[in-house]
Amino acid sequence: MNYPNVAKEDPAVYEILKREEAREREGIELIASENYVSRAVLEAMGSVLTNKYSEGYPGKRYYGGNEVIDEVENLAIRRAQELFGAEHVNVQPLSGSPANLAVYMALLQPGDKVLGFSLDQGGHLSHGHPLNFSGKLYTIAPYFVGKETETIDMDEVEAIALRERPRMILAGFSAYSRSFDWKRFRAIADKVGAYLFADIAHIAGLIAGKQLENPVPFCDVVSTTTHKTLRGPRGAMIMCKEQFASAIDKAVFPGVQGGPHEHIIAAKAVAYGEALRPEFQTYSAQVIANARALADALQKKGYRVVSGGTDNHLMLVDLFGSKEITGKEGEKALERTGISINKNMIPFDARKPMDPSGIRLGTPALTTRGCKESDMQTVADLMDDALAHRNDDAKLAEVRGRVREFALKFPVPGIEA
Ligand SMILES: *Cc1c(COP(=O)(O)O)cnc(C)c1O
Repeated sequence: MNYPNVAKEDPAVYEILKREEAREREGIELIASENYVSRAVLEAMGSVLTNKYSEGYPGKRYYGGNEVIDEVENLAIRRAQELFGAEHVNVQPLSGSPANLAVYMALLQPGDKVLGFSLDQGGHLSHGHPLNFSGKLYTIAPYFVGKETETIDMDEVEAIALRERPRMILAGFSAYSRSFDWKRFRAIADKVGAYLFADIAHIAGLIAGKQLENPVPFCDVVSTTTHKTLRGPRGAMIMCKEQFASAIDKAVFPGVQGGPHEHIIAAKAVAYGEALRPEFQTYSAQVIANARALADALQKKGYRVVSGGTDNHLMLVDLFGSKEITGKEGEKALERTGISINKNMIPFDARKPMDPSGIRLGTPALTTRGCKESDMQTVADLMDDALAHRNDDAKLAEVRGRVREFALKFPVPGIEA
């Protein structure tokens, strides 16, 4: 990409932008929450809409001059409604965590009990971490995966819900590779009189692309980030049934936020427009096919994949259990070869969060670059070489060269197209 004015006015920032471009082009990106946005999304983010204050909502702003801004926000809302079949959409949340804060504020009182997926088994910080607002302000009761299946057991969730009587059930994850049974979650929520809130931050794109079941019809409220599989700008949105519309809108503004970022909302509209096209369904199907191919290839090399495989874009690999390599060692070795992953706890991990047993891998970014199943075999070979020779500097340098050569065959859309 060219940034002629940054180059002229601010060489220090320019140099950083170019180095990050090179890193993104020359590396293999397997971080499950990352993706590459299109040039159109980048352009909308870089637009003059950043100049405008627009506190409030379309037609009801606290500042004048919002007639154009109202149109872009309404366009984003309409496209999101079309993508997910939502009754009401708020596109203003600045990111996933503040979106979730707004949902808690809209539905709960401080101290109320929330049933959420255990954090060390795949839940997100905002689902009850003790240092996060969610863990500080609310009472959290976790549900877990079964020890044998490493999959959520819905009878167990029901038993915990009946015992704990939560005010809200939170269904969602950052590190879980199996499908969620939304219908059963609805039935359990109804049985105990709880709200059902789904956080689909990781899988929104796979739902929009019609590859995974859509929870919107089953849930009172659904939140999602827009920058993961949905492949939009860094941000979030909240979808809900009409009866919660006013509470959700008030919780976002003035509850949690001031002025919305309308340049980002314009970029969300662009990304939703892209996701409405048939090509996005092809993309989403390929993301899952690639994840399955990568899981298979790694399993054939003796790596243990948690729960035996994946139904979505991500997987957890039990590095320590299968190869006696810790997550931290693995992350470092792979980083030295230009392969980006993150260390991650696996269910019932005996090790600590800063050096856990596992790593998390995902295929959304590589799939955006055009990688197919056969390329996942190459990725598995490169990973295995890096991990096996993690203490051999010369070998790691050699793998680094092969990673770069592989990556450069696949253009990064936002940078090169
Ligand atoms: C990524 C994620 C979020 C938070 O998103 P940020 O934009 O990083 O605040 C929330 N919930 C889940 C399940 C996530 O995976």
